[in-house]
Order: sequence, then C-alpha cells, then structure tokens
Amino acid sequence: MKKALIIGVTGQDGTYLSDFLLKKNYEVFGTFRRTSHKCFERLEEIKILDRINTIKADITDQVSLHNAIKKSDPDEIYNLAAQSFVGASFSQPILTSEVTGLGTLKLLETVKQIKSDVRFYQASSSEMFGNYAGIKNEKSAFFPRSPYGVAKVFAHDMTKHYREAYNIFACCGILFNHESPLRGLEFVTRRISYEIAQIKLKKRDKIRLGNIKAKRDWGFAGDYVEAMWLMLQHKIAEDYVIATGESHSVEEFLSLAVEIAGLGDWHELVEIDQSFMRPTDIDELIGDSAKANNELGWKPKVAFKELVKLMVEHDIDYVKRNVDRF
Ligand code: NDP
Repeated sequence: MKKALIIGVTGQDGTYLSDFLLKKNYEVFGTFRRTSHKCFERLEEIKILDRINTIKADITDQVSLHNAIKKSDPDEIYNLAAQSFVGASFSQPILTSEVTGLGTLKLLETVKQIKSDVRFYQASSSEMFGNYAGIKNEKSAFFPRSPYGVAKVFAHDMTKHYREAYNIFACCGILFNHESPLRGLEFVTRRISYEIAQIKLKKRDKIRLGNIKAKRDWGFAGDYVEAMWLMLQHKIAEDYVIATGESHSVEEFLSLAVEIAGLGDWHELVEIDQSFMRPTDIDELIGDSAKANNELGWKPKVAFKELVKLMVEHDIDYVKRNVDRF
C-alpha cells in the first residue's frame, strides 16, 4: 500500500485529493494546523475524515514538517498548503509570503534532509502569469500581479531548483482556477453560488461583487486532483499546466447561476462594491494543457455549465440545511 502525505489536507483540493487517493487504495496522511475552531468540515462533508491519518503541522514551522514526514514516511508528498486567497494577499503580504513562499522552501529543505527519494508535488498557480494577454502554457513567462502570485513564483522556482540541484522528483502543477461545492466561501464563484442560494431561499436580497468583467479558466477541482497524482506517476519529474482552455467572465458565472436558480434578471440582484476591487487585477487567464493531455493522458471532464449547476444545486441544499458558515 502506497503512502501519501498531503500538506494542507483541510482545504478544497486536500479533500478531493484524499478521496481520490483513498479510492486508489493509498494510506493517506494529512496535515492540519491548530485553530480555535473546527477545521475538518470538508472532510466531514464527504465522510472521509475517519479514513485519514491527521497530523498537526504548520508549514511555517519546520520542526512540525520534519515530524509529519517522519511519522508518515510517505512515497508521495503533495504540498497544497497556502494562504490561497489572492484578495487577502494584498492586506497580508508578509503572511502570504511566509506561508505560500517560504513555507514551501522549508518543506523542500526538510525533504532534502530526510526523505529525498520521495515524489513531491507543488501547487503552483496560473496567478503567476499575470496580465499579459494570450493562452498560457509551460513556456509562458511569469509576471505576477499580487503578493500571492509573487509568493507562488518563489515556491515554483525553488521547487525546480531542488529538482535540478538535488535530483528530487519534484513536479509543479500550474493549475488554473478550479472550483467546487467545497471551494472556500470567500472565493467569487462560491460566493455567487452560496449567495444566489440564499436569495433563492429568501435569506438575502442582493449580492455584492467587485470586478465582474474579469475572466478566468474555471475547471472542477475533482478533475484537477487527478492531474496532481498523474504527474507523480510519470517517469520524469516535469511541470504541467492544468486548465480547460476556455475562459468565462464572473458576469457569465453569475448570470448562469441566476438562471439555474430560476431567479430572473441577474442585473436586479447585483450591487457593484468597490471594496471588492483589487489594487492590481488580471483581466483574463486562459491555459493550454496540451502537454498534460499528451504526456499524462489528462483532460478535464466537467464543463463550465455543469460546474456552475453543481455548485448552485449544492448550495441551495446547503442553505436549506441551514449550515451557515458565512
Ligand atoms: P484552500 O485555501 O482551500 O486550502 C489551503 C490549505 O492550506 C488548507 O488546508 C489550509 O488550512 C492550509 N494552510 C494555510 N495556511 C497554512 C499553514 N500556515 N500551515 C499549514 N497549512 C496551511 O486552497 P485550495 O485547496 O483551493 O488550493 C490548494 C493549493 O493549490 C493552494 O496552494 C492554492 O494556492 C493552490 N492553487 C489553487 C487553485 C484553485 O483554483 N483552487 C489554483 C491554483 C493553485 P486551513 O484549512 O487551516 O486554512
């Protein structure tokens, strides 16, 4: 039985990846950080928490990373831990750099010292590309436009450095946005699906949004965790763009969500709120995952419309159950 250690198991991707690996018959270890509140809601929601070995560790604390690797002795490590919300990185640039950037270096250095034969996955991001027009692939240059993007470039380059300098089997997945019913409630797609569900159930009247013209390449998180695993099964450690190849605006996401919920004209439900605007934003992100398709046999399964439907229908049920985390 193979063993996998997921750093950041409590997040959206950590939950889907755990489920995926359990189905592949892995023994799954996952780290969580100490908080004053419950942090296993997602793992509980899909009923897999009792099948995972949880280990307390913070990516900023190298001792705890060392202990997590010693305790699990993994064949594969997936580094998903991050301050992952771009918007928050503008108000917390130092924390974002320490967690998302330097934290990855602490993990890589620990791997080099005590487990250099492991297969290592780094969660890189399309936010590294910034605002230059065009479809992005593995050869595109990085021009990050947020502290989050800058921290991810540091972690990405450091992962490549450890691969080249110390021969560690380390891969970076440059994943474009991926969403799901388990997406954090502050992310725009989930905010839309959740608040539209609240409007449907008469718990609020309006939804407040920022830049609804921004376009992103949105896929389904459940599809994207498969790509992470495929990278670590490949014979050579390389980096891959994972995307759908289609971009849609926030406005399109919103109008489709409103239509699915049967709420009429979306213009009447929305207020544009300047406080959601970012100091610097990216107009459009769109990715080309031909390399992953050719070399790993990966392609997305869930299309945009299906994704929006999945999220809105989930959230109508979620609000009905009166589970209010917002
Ligand atoms: P989430 O925000 O849902 O999950 C992030 C995870 O990191 C959580 O488990 C979180 O724990 C953990 N974490 C945060 N701070 C620390 C810390 N100091 N020490 C240890 N763990 C910590 O993100 P996703 O699951 O959506 O994304 C997974 C990874 O992929 C992230 O690195 C993200 O930046 C990256 N990515 C995501 C994309 C997307 O569209 N979803 C696109 C491209 C890249 P807690 O639950 O306690 O907060």
